[in-house]
Amino acid sequence: MAAAAQFSGCQARPLPTADGFLRWEQVKPTLRQRGKIGLRTPPRAETGLIELENTGNMWGGAVYPQEIADEICDGAHELGLPVHLDGARIFNAATVLGQPVAAITKKFDSVMFCLSKGLGAPVGSMLVGSREFIDEAHRVRKALGGGMRQAGILAAAGLIALEKHPARLPEDHANARFLAAGLARIRGIQIDPAKAPTNILIVDIGQTGMDATEFSRKLAERGILANGVNAHTMRFVTHLDVNRAGCERAFRAVEEICVHLGHPIHNSKAETRN
Ligand SMILES: *Cc1c(COP(=O)(O)O)cnc(C)c1O
Repeated sequence: MAAAAQFSGCQARPLPTADGFLRWEQVKPTLRQRGKIGLRTPPRAETGLIELENTGNMWGGAVYPQEIADEICDGAHELGLPVHLDGARIFNAATVLGQPVAAITKKFDSVMFCLSKGLGAPVGSMLVGSREFIDEAHRVRKALGGGMRQAGILAAAGLIALEKHPARLPEDHANARFLAAGLARIRGIQIDPAKAPTNILIVDIGQTGMDATEFSRKLAERGILANGVNAHTMRFVTHLDVNRAGCERAFRAVEEICVHLGHPIHNSKAETRN
């Protein structure tokens, strides 16, 4: 919704990546700081903030290697730039890295994470930062109409999400691996289970002859909900409400949808991998 431009007067400059991870050597030449680097001609907006996303939603839940994130934070701080983490799924990343969230986020100036998504609360996201930063965030939230009354019932659900649910994320990750292995065996379906470290599968259905809208509709008819990312790519997510049997139902449904591609329905290349 161009909200950053509308409400904050900011312009985002997304950078492409080959693997979902920015690198400091890639970020640095794009920065514009008057009198420092990259801004010799005045009529250009100066860089005010660097932002990373961990895990990478559209990158199959890719987890930032810690040294890459640390290098960006250190480099930015040397230039006096703050770094924000879109950590909607940071608890999934911490699970994979086997580190506390506090440890993997300590170099960031501010962090946002979702109590919903993998942690399973019905609603809610948290913003974390210094006292001063949060005081300002409270002011801005109020100004944007984001204040809430009777929020206690939602906060209670959020506490359960935060206190109990990080411990069960390995289950979602194992289910995603199980689902990926099942899907990888189906002819017409392309997914590299090694590129799905957390709970998100980005699946190429290009060779099924169906587009994502049709595929999604056929899945929905079978009680499986998954959406397209683009015309030939689907996104599957495991979470609190999906168990092992549900994952099996999901790849059986995909098998059924792909049965017209001929027998054997199994992809022999992937079969050897299993
Ligand atoms: C869901 C999500 C958000 C936004 O979360 P809200 O709870 O809607 O504020 C931000 N970033 C990523 C990567 C997300 O997946």
